[in-house]
Amino acid sequence: MPTYSYHCKSCGAEFDAEQKISEEPIKICKVCGKPEAKRLITNGNFVLQGSGWYRDGYNSAKKV
Ligand SMILES: [Zn+2]
Repeated sequence: MPTYSYHCKSCGAEFDAEQKISEEPIKICKVCGKPEAKRLITNGNFVLQGSGWYRDGYNSAKKV
């Protein structure tokens, strides 16, 4: 199950939530409880969408 990152516009908190891809994005902030949470684009999504980005990141990580 992918993990999504959320940012709350109300209190500024950031939190992660494990959700199925088919699930609706969470709106309720885990920290303040207000319906101001927005899903962020995460690195996990980039890996799924572009294998080239993943390979480059992996190679440079190995060199260092
Ligand atoms: Zn909040």
